[in-house]
Amino acid sequence: MQLQNTLAFAQTLDAQDPLRAYRDQFHFPKVGGREVVYFAGNSLGLQPKVTQSYVDEVMTDWRELAVEGHFYADKPWWDYHERLAKPLAKVVGAKPEEVTVMNTLTVNLHLLMVSFYRPKGKRFKILCEEKAFPSDQYMLQSQVRFHGYDPSEAIVEVKKHQGEHFWRSEDILAKIEELGDELALVLIGGVNYYNGQVFDMKTITEVGQKVGAKVGWDLAHAAGNIKLALHDWGVDFATWCSYKYMNSGPGNASGVFIHERHLGQRDIPRFEGWWGAKKETRFLMRPQFEPMDNAEAWQLSNAPVIAVAPYLASLQLFEEVGMDALVEKRNKIVDYLEFILKEIDKEVDPTFEIITPEDRGTQLSVFLHGEGRSLFDYLMRQGVIVDWREPNVIRLAPAPFYCSFEDMYRFGQVLKEGILAKV
Ligand SMILES: *Cc1c(COP(=O)(O)O)cnc(C)c1O
Repeated sequence: MQLQNTLAFAQTLDAQDPLRAYRDQFHFPKVGGREVVYFAGNSLGLQPKVTQSYVDEVMTDWRELAVEGHFYADKPWWDYHERLAKPLAKVVGAKPEEVTVMNTLTVNLHLLMVSFYRPKGKRFKILCEEKAFPSDQYMLQSQVRFHGYDPSEAIVEVKKHQGEHFWRSEDILAKIEELGDELALVLIGGVNYYNGQVFDMKTITEVGQKVGAKVGWDLAHAAGNIKLALHDWGVDFATWCSYKYMNSGPGNASGVFIHERHLGQRDIPRFEGWWGAKKETRFLMRPQFEPMDNAEAWQLSNAPVIAVAPYLASLQLFEEVGMDALVEKRNKIVDYLEFILKEIDKEVDPTFEIITPEDRGTQLSVFLHGEGRSLFDYLMRQGVIVDWREPNVIRLAPAPFYCSFEDMYRFGQVLKEGILAKV
C-alpha cells in the first residue's frame, strides 16, 4: 500500500483498524481543550477507564470488611496477586507458575541477583550493554561491590561502533565467547530505553548459557511492547515494571519471571519472606521456611493490593486483545510514523535522523540535528507529549492500544510547523 501523509489517508487507516475502539477505553489528558497526542507510553502508559473500578472495589472492601477482606472480599486479598499470573504469563510468553507480581523493578533486579549472580573463582564477570538504564548500572555496580569485586573489572560493557547508534548482535555474542568461563551473568535491557532497539534475546540467551553463564533480561521497555517467549527461549530470569507499556499507573508493581528449571529448588540462594512460603502452611507461622513451588517463592511481603488492582485491570485489556493483535497494529502504526517523519524531513532544514534500528518495537528515537529543547517545549505546548533525552533525542512511543493513525499525522504537522517556525 502506498502511504500518504494526509489527514484523509490517516483516517482511512483508522477506519480499517480492528483495535480502534480501544482508544476510547483510555483517559487522555487535554491541552487547550483537546486530547493530546500521547507518545510517552514508554514512560507512563495512559490510565484505562476500567482501572478506577478495580481500585474502588478494594477501597470498598477495605471500608466494609476491614481485616475480613483478606478472605471474604469478592477478590480476597490474600491471593489477589494470583489473578495476575495467567494473563501476565501470556504477555511475556511464560507458564503461569513462572511469573509473579511483587515489589518494584530495581528491587526485583536486586532480589534476582541474589539467586542468579553467584560469582565463584574466575567466573565473576557480568556482561551488559554500554549506557544501560542508570538504575540498572547502579544495581550492577552495587551488587558487584557487595560481592567484593571491582566494578571496572567485573562489569563488561558491549559498546556501539563509532558513528553507529545501535549495538551489533555479533559483538555481544563474540564478547560472550571471549569471556567464556569468566562470565557469570548476562544482563541486558531487552529493549533499549534510549534507541528502542530490540535485542536478539533468544540467541544471546542460548550463547550465554552455553558458556555456563546465567542470562537475565530487564524487560521494562519490552513487556507489553514486543512479543516475548521467555519460557521457550530458556531465559533464566527477567523482570519488568508495569507502568510503561503495561498501563498500570505511576511507580506500580513489577513483574518477575523465573524459568521453571529453577523452581522448587531447595538449595537456590534467595532472600525470603513469609509470602514466599507455602500457602497451605503459611499461617501456621512455623519457623522453618517452606518455599512455594512456583515463582512466588521469591515473594517477600503480602501484596500491596491497592497497587496491584490497576495491574489486574490493565491485564484484563491485554487478555482481551492479545499480544499478536497489538504487535500487528504496532507495526503498522510505527511504519506509518516512520513514513511521516521521512516525508517531513524532506521539507525542513535542519533535518533529523531516526536512530532506532530495524529490530524495534513501538519506539522511534529521533536525533534532531541542530534543534534544541525549545522544539520539545513547543511540541508539549501544542499537545504532543513526547519524551526528551539529552542532548537532542526525542523518543516517540505510540502505544498501539490507544494511539491512532490520525495521531501520527497530527504529530507530523506539529513537528513540521515547529521546525519551520524555528521555535
Ligand atoms: C523504567 C526503567 C527502570 C525503572 O526502575 P524502577 O525501579 O521501576 O524505578 C529500570 N530499568 C530500566 C531499563 C527501565 O527502563
